[in-house]
Parts: sequence; structure tokens; C-alpha cells
Amino acid sequence: MEQRPFGRTGLVVAAIGQGTWRMEGDDRARAVRALRAGLDAGMTHVDTAEMYGSGEVEEVVREALGGRRDEAFLVTKVWPEHATREGVVKACERSLSRLGTDRLDCYLLHWPSRHPLEETIAGFEDLVRAGKIRSWGLSNFDRARLEKALAIAGEGRIACNQVLYHVGERAIEHAVLPWCAEHGVSVVAYSPFGSGVFPSPRSAGGKALEIVAAAHGATPHQAALAFLLRHPGVFVIPKASDPAHAAENAGAAELDLEPEEIERLEAAFPLRPRRDLPMM
Ligand code: NAP
Repeated sequence: MEQRPFGRTGLVVAAIGQGTWRMEGDDRARAVRALRAGLDAGMTHVDTAEMYGSGEVEEVVREALGGRRDEAFLVTKVWPEHATREGVVKACERSLSRLGTDRLDCYLLHWPSRHPLEETIAGFEDLVRAGKIRSWGLSNFDRARLEKALAIAGEGRIACNQVLYHVGERAIEHAVLPWCAEHGVSVVAYSPFGSGVFPSPRSAGGKALEIVAAAHGATPHQAALAFLLRHPGVFVIPKASDPAHAAENAGAAELDLEPEEIERLEAAFPLRPRRDLPMM
């Protein structure tokens, strides 16, 4: 599995990780098997949130990481309503307890909060000093909000911005992605398969994915992940409760797209003029 530098944290992280949203609705034993198969295949970046299943999914992650905590790059997110300076610390402690660990590798603000960002960032920095988190980041931040966060935190503090990014939704390429590259903030692509709404094989985009994938003996889902990973600062976190899906997703790391294949996919999934930041 390819490892990439994660922001300016000095840490390197698997380019392909694992999401966990809505896992509480899936067969739990199977989801745990899928996460463990993903770890076996090197997808050690595991993304969750206190919001998922109201904490239940963090407990699924705890089960999946049983005896393997040190293999993982574990990320969870504070619910924005909790994002005061004290609230961030308390929410983190509750997440640590549900996750069965004493530290997070990265802790994110799930989306912009009504609480002052200064407070949230102060809470994150308190947690860093206390050794409870190794780094922190943001999610669903557009360029203007990123600028504000940078002005508060200073260069090198924001590890990542986790945003919606898939073949059919490339809006971050206008402003968010270039801004993050300039400031050493990693981009973590969430819903990289459109949250399960994947281009149909009958559509022009679906056909382009099939053609590109077939040239490498790969699958359209693998080609879709490789397309997002063409940017060096990007990570992807597909969610899979099916162990076979997890293994397939990890295999995308083997796929090196040729420039003309990237052009073909860029043409099949054109960058639309919409410049704001859509959310899932
Ligand atoms: P996604 O990863 O785009 O798609 C998940 C769906 O794709 C599931 O139905 C899954 O099925 C299916 N799938 C996975 N691998 C597949 C494969 N190789 N072939 C065919 N189908 C496959 O959706 P997502 O859960 O929305 O996004 C991923 C993660 O990003 C989330 O789980 C969460 O951790 C994070 N996220 C963050 C935010 C945020 O606001 N920060 C928002 C949304 C998501 P099975 O489960 O049956 O395998």
C-alpha cells in the first residue's frame, strides 16, 4: 500500500483508507471482518465519527481494531455542536473510551460549527499537549473558512480537510484542492464512490471507467479511486462492509493511470463550473 505524507504532521499514511459511515445499519460481524480484511491489505487509515450511529460505529471500530490498534491511523470527528474549547476535550474523551484507545492519530471538526473556530482550535491544541491526539484537521471547509482557520492556527497545524470528492463531483478542484496543496494540508476524499451511487456501466462515464479499468485488469471502482489519487496530496476513504469490497478497494493502490487515461476520465466526468463546496 502506498504511503503519503499526511499534511505537515511528519506522519505517513496509507493513501487508501476505510470509511465507516452507516456501518451501524450493516451486519456488525461482517463489517468487522471487512475492516480487518482492509487492515490486512494495508488500508490502515480508519475514519469514523462520534455522530455515526450516535457512537455505535466507534464501538464497531473498537471491535475491528481489537489487538491491532497500533497498526491503524485512527481518525474520528467531533460533532460541531460539541466544538467549544471544553466540549472538544470532553467529546474526544468519550470517543477514546468508545474506541478503546488512549489516543487518536487525527481528530477532525465534522463540519463548520456555530461555536467560534478559535475555541475549537484551542480545544484541539489542548488535546495535542495532553497527548490525546497526534494531529487535528477540518472537514467540509471551503477556501474562505480554510483561510480563517489558517489565520488562527498558523501554518503547519491543519493536517487535513476531509471533503466530498468523487468522479462525479470534482468541485474541490476549483479552489479547495489548490489551496490545500499550497498550505501543506492533505485532502481526504470522502464518499469516493458517491456514497454508493456509482456511475452506471450504461452511462458514458461508466463506460470510460470500464475501458480504463480493463486495460489494467482492474475494476471500475478501482479506476475511480486511482483517478482521485492522481493528485499527490489526496487520500481516499471508501466505506465497505463487504470484505470482498474492502480487498478490491485496497487493490486500487496497484493501479497507475497513464496520462491519456486520466484525460479520458477527466473528459468523461467534466469539471462543472460550480465552485462552492458541496456536502454529502
Ligand atoms: P462511499 O465510500 O462513497 O460508498 C460506500 C458504498 O459503496 C457502500 O454501499 C459500499 O458497499 C459500496 N462499495 C464499497 N466498495 C465497493 C466496491 N469495491 N464495489 C462496489 N461497491 C462498493 O460512501 P460513504 O460511506 O459516504 O463515504 C466513505 C466514508 O467517508 C464514510 O464512510 C465516512 O467515513 C466518510 N464521510 C465523511 C463525511 C464528512 O462529512 N466528513 C461525509 C460522508 C462520508 P458495502 O458497504 O456493502 O461494501
